[in-house]
Amino acid sequence: MKEIEHFLERVRLRPALYLGKKDLAALSHNLAGYEEALADLTGRKVLFNNKFQCFVQSKYGRAYNKTIHWSTFLLEQYPEEEAFDLFFALFDEFLMHFPHWEQMDAAYFKALESCFCAPNAFEEDPNTAVFTCVHVLGGEKPILHACRDQEGDLQFLCGCAHTIKEARVISLWEACMLDTTIGTLSTLKRGASADRKEENARWIICEK
Ligand SMILES: [Zn+2]
Repeated sequence: MKEIEHFLERVRLRPALYLGKKDLAALSHNLAGYEEALADLTGRKVLFNNKFQCFVQSKYGRAYNKTIHWSTFLLEQYPEEEAFDLFFALFDEFLMHFPHWEQMDAAYFKALESCFCAPNAFEEDPNTAVFTCVHVLGGEKPILHACRDQEGDLQFLCGCAHTIKEARVISLWEACMLDTTIGTLSTLKRGASADRKEENARWIICEK
């Protein structure tokens, strides 16, 4: 397990040895080949490229307005060496949020990407601050109530009564990471709310 991570750590330490220089396009081709060889030799399809692609698109949201490969996107935004270093910073972030990415379903990453890149996705930047509660953030309770207040701020709460001390501020991206179904609430109007009885139940939108 973790072959892709070990391979990337070796490249990070000695880019010149593996690629000649800090060359992100060459790295992405090497990585694609490595992933195919891994599937041929072990029968395991880890889908790193597929999952990482969705992760990068979700991080950039509407700034990522074309379906191009993550390496092309980074090279369009930054000079070569910077794009190469940024890839590894994004890779570290990917591992931090999803240490068990290999076992995770590719559909989860697709759903996370859809929260920000689908036609009906959130208009907000993924870094927009949203409100949640200590219960949702701690994983104690699912998100069962969502609303967009009159100021336009989004709230994703467990549905119980709260004191101000139980409020927490996270990014919209983090909220979607906790529960990708809130992507379906992207068009919630100011003053509108949405509720559901339990996790996996259908969201019922209430527009006042
Ligand atoms: Zn709560």
